[in-house]
Amino acid sequence: MSVLAVDTLCKSFGGVHAVDHVSFAVGESEFLALIGPNGAGKSTCFNMINGQLPPDSGKILLDGQDVTGLTPRQIWRRGVGRTFQIAATFGSMTVAENVQMALLSHAGQIFALWRPAASYYRERALELLAQVGMADAADRPCHELAYGDVKRVELAIALANEPRLLLMDEPTAGMAPGERNKLIALVKELVVKRRMSVLFTEHSMDVVFAFADRIIVLARGKLIADGDAAAIRKNPQVQEVYFGT
Ligand code: ADP
Ligand code: MG
Repeated sequence: MSVLAVDTLCKSFGGVHAVDHVSFAVGESEFLALIGPNGAGKSTCFNMINGQLPPDSGKILLDGQDVTGLTPRQIWRRGVGRTFQIAATFGSMTVAENVQMALLSHAGQIFALWRPAASYYRERALELLAQVGMADAADRPCHELAYGDVKRVELAIALANEPRLLLMDEPTAGMAPGERNKLIALVKELVVKRRMSVLFTEHSMDVVFAFADRIIVLARGKLIADGDAAAIRKNPQVQEVYFGT
């Protein structure tokens, strides 16, 4: 069964069909890229999947269960994570403290009267930081980190929720090409190691073709292609949208 299935999703803003009868599924441990030109409807899809935006019509299923209309918190509780932008990390706190906060939040224990000793969360935070290659920076304040390293910490924060499905909307925005490759390679490694599924958007076609297990393409709100890199490359509709040929 699919981890996520969206079925005939629609969303309009005024007269604009931002997402127009879109259906696709994400399999277990799949690294799936959602691509398309600016304004294609990618972010709108993400916002509906994570409960921020109610669809006009259509359904969202997690493990076959209808979750359409649930709140972002309810969706998050069902194991759908999302990476947030830099602003979400507390700059003056250390890297480890940021991850510890996320672990406490996941355990529902921020305001608990009793909780395991702080050292327990510190250990868990260090494990997660090791998974994203940031253990050495554990005690540095976040605001001192280079941009690419902040992205890694954001990933560790998202992993603290033990997501089964992670949504990443433009995770490499603002990064240099080499850094992009590194971050996406790391996420792909985690997909395999943690048996988690990832749905991500990415502008660099080179990165998408190199790493995605499967690619779905949106253009003006409509799904125009769904397949592996070889199939997407030679798809005439995709070529038209991207290269005008
Ligand atoms: P993408 O992420 O692929 O660049 P978006 O999902 O952000 O595309 O946008 C799809 C279309 O919907 C665009 O035409 C955009 O202008 C429009 N749109 C997105 N969000 C809103 C909104 N909150 N209000 C009005 N129009 C919106
Ligand atoms: Mg977008």
